[in-house]
Parts: sequence; C-alpha cells; structure tokens
Amino acid sequence: MQEYQTIIIGAGPAGLIAGRHLKNALILDKKKEIGKPVQCGEGVSENALELQGIEPDDSWISCKIHKMERITPSGKVIGKFHEEAMGYVIKREKFEKYLTQDLRAEIKLNTKVIDLKFENNLWEVIIEGGEKFKSKYIIGADGPASVVRRKVFPESQDKIKFVPAVQYLIKTEKELDDKTIKIYLDNEKYNHGYAWIFPKSKNTANVGIGSMGNFAEELNKFLEEIIKKNYGDYEIIENRSGTIPVANISQCKLYKNEAFLVGDAAGLADPIFKGGISQAMMSGKIAGECILENNPDSYEAKIKTMPFADEKLIKASEIFYGFDNEVLDELGNVFENKELSYAQTFRGALKVLSRSAFLKNIKKFFMLVFAWKNSKDCM
Ligand SMILES: Cc1cc2nc3c(=O)[nH]c(=O)nc-3n(C[C@H](O)[C@H](O)[C@H](O)COP(=O)(O)OP(=O)(O)OC[C@H]3O[C@@H](n4cnc5c(N)ncnc54)[C@H](O)[C@@H]3O)c2cc1C
Repeated sequence: MQEYQTIIIGAGPAGLIAGRHLKNALILDKKKEIGKPVQCGEGVSENALELQGIEPDDSWISCKIHKMERITPSGKVIGKFHEEAMGYVIKREKFEKYLTQDLRAEIKLNTKVIDLKFENNLWEVIIEGGEKFKSKYIIGADGPASVVRRKVFPESQDKIKFVPAVQYLIKTEKELDDKTIKIYLDNEKYNHGYAWIFPKSKNTANVGIGSMGNFAEELNKFLEEIIKKNYGDYEIIENRSGTIPVANISQCKLYKNEAFLVGDAAGLADPIFKGGISQAMMSGKIAGECILENNPDSYEAKIKTMPFADEKLIKASEIFYGFDNEVLDELGNVFENKELSYAQTFRGALKVLSRSAFLKNIKKFFMLVFAWKNSKDCM
C-alpha cells in the first residue's frame, strides 16, 4: 500500500492550491478531467488572485470586470464603474488546469474516495474498487458533498446549509455588457438569494439563481422577463447548476486527528453572495502551510480568525435577506452608482439617516455594511 505524508481529496481550487504547497502528497479526484464539469458562475475578485500570488492570465480569463451592479427590485443600480479591473469572470476549467502546472503533489484522477479510517496514527483512504492509500495527514477538499466531512466530521454535517444554485451558460441574440456583473436582488422572489448575469463574452453569460425558494421556476421567469427583454432570444448551451454549502464557521470543527476540512467541504462560501473560490484557495494554502510548518493544530484557529469566517457575516446575511423590498429599493436610492462603503463617509451616513426605511433598521443596516466590507478583505 502506497504511503504519503498527505492525501488531498479533491482537485478543485482548494485541493490544487494545497497541492501546490505540499511535496510527498497525493491528490485524488473522482473527475476524469481537471475542471470539468463547470458548476460555477466563475467570478473571482482581483484580491482573491493577489492573495495567492496568481497573475491574471489571458488564457483563463473570459472577461475583465469593472463594475459589480446590485440591482434592486425597482431597477436602481448599486455599484460604480472602476477604471481598473476589480475582478474577472474566468474560464474555470482552464484556470484549474493552469493551477496544476505548479503542483508539487502527485495527482490521480478518476479515483473516487469512498471511505477513510484512522488507525495507529495513520489515515487509510479507500477508493472505489478497493485500492487503499496511507498518509499521516488528509485534507478534505472534496466540495459540497464531502466524504471527508461525512466520515470524519459528522458533527459538522447538520451545521451546514446547502443553497441550491441553478445556472445555465447561455448565448444571447443582443450584446451584453462584458465589463459588468449584474446581481438582481428581490427578497420577495428569491428566498435567501439572488439572480445573476456573469458575462463570458459579448454574447454569452452564466445566468443563474442561488436561492432556498422555488429556484427552477424563478430561473425560467428570469430568462423570459429579464434576459429576453434586454438581450433578445437566448439559447441554453450548458447546465452549470450545483449546491453552495454555507456554515457558521465558528460552530464547526475543521481539524481533528491530522485531518483538515478546506473550501466548500468546510462550508466556507460567503453567506451573503455565496462565492467560495477565494476562501477555498485561502484555506487550501493555510492547510498546506500548517503541514509544512509542522503545526497542524493551529489550522482551525487560523481559519476562524479570517474575515470570511466572522460570525457577523451570518448575521449580516440574515439581516440582508430579511429586508423588505422597500428597504432594498431605498438602498438603491441612497447608493445609486455608489459602493456600499459610501455609508461610511460623513455624507453617506447622513443620507442613510435621512431615510425613514433605514431609521427603523439603522443598527442592522450599519452592521451589514461593516460585515460586508470586512469580508471583502479576503474574498
Ligand atoms: C452554480 C454555482 C455558481 C457559483 N459561482 C461562483 C462564483 O461566481 N464565484 C465564486 O467564488 N464561487 C462560486 N461558486 C462557489 C464555488 O464554485 C465553490 O465555492 C468552489 O468551487 C469551492 O472549491 P473547492 O475546491 O472547495 O470545491 P470544488 O470546486 O467543489 O472541488 C471539489 C473536488 O472534489 C472532488 N470530489 C468530491 N467528492 C470526491 C470523492 N469522494 N472522491 C474524490 N474526489 C471527490 C470533486 O470532483 C471536485 O473536483 C458557485 C457555485 C455554484 C454551485
């Protein structure tokens, strides 16, 4: 039986980044090909790449994003145009293949892990077909349905909320704005979520809804009412749906017996806007570093002090998705063509205070702004 220092289960962003740090490591993934299928809107911030020292590369970038529009139910736009690109819609398959270029770990595809056993201070990883591998450490980077979480951290399983995200890659008749990501807010239609258009080119986009409500019906309505109205006839090229696990990280166990949970396996996606690529890469990096420094016990505390794991974010998401549409529209009136951070300026704060819809929610409102801003430092 082959033995490694570390076995990483999952070759998504979390596992691949861990595998870039670790020698004497083996990455196992059930996929036949890295990066496929794509189940992602493919939006990544400039900051997320910078934090990993990854230079944006045209080979895996679809569009450079200069504006993030949050559109309220009455059609007001929150967010402003930035001269410099603030993020990217990537080609996720190519991005993941690019991440494999600097791997120190070995990688084995078409290999589904079905069980894990911890005996005599060593992990035994059992794959479909019965083959076994041994290691001192395991890193669970195996996404929303993580076998590592289910087998090794069963107590965390019911602490995670799984948000369904239904999404299509579509082709449009009319041109899209390929510098702008559009997020449609409507707390009456979308239960704890929103709809989005992430441009992939001048006439293709990832269009989806992440919501606890009747998402499939809502996506059909969104395609007919928003896409058809603004961009003419559309064609569905590919279904790119999936699930986004969101957790109150402070209550979850992320490390035990030399086993780590990273990325979506740990439920690290943003509870407000549900992105998880940056947190996946960051947690993969931290797990790798903890192993290299021979200090694995410090992993959980390190993750729990990251801005994206702040408990206030969960509260902020409850506040945000608990607002009436009237409050979302007032947000649109105050922040039209501005970022939410405007609330932290003297003028912005005065404007907020002058609106009756905010006055009754004022404490909640400022908590939302601070939590949102803090989490961005790491996403
Ligand atoms: C529709 C949708 C849209 C999204 N849009 C965005 C977005 O625009 N921006 C953003 O930041 N985030 C987005 N996300 C979230 C983002 O995709 C995830 O947070 C991110 O992929 C997490 O990376 P990961 O490496 O932790 O897990 P994953 O990318 O899920 O990788 C896990 C890997 O583990 C493998 N695996 C699973 N089980 C096993 C097993 N038993 N044995 C072997 N291998 C296994 C899988 O094949 C997979 O390759 C979106 C998610 C969805 C569903």
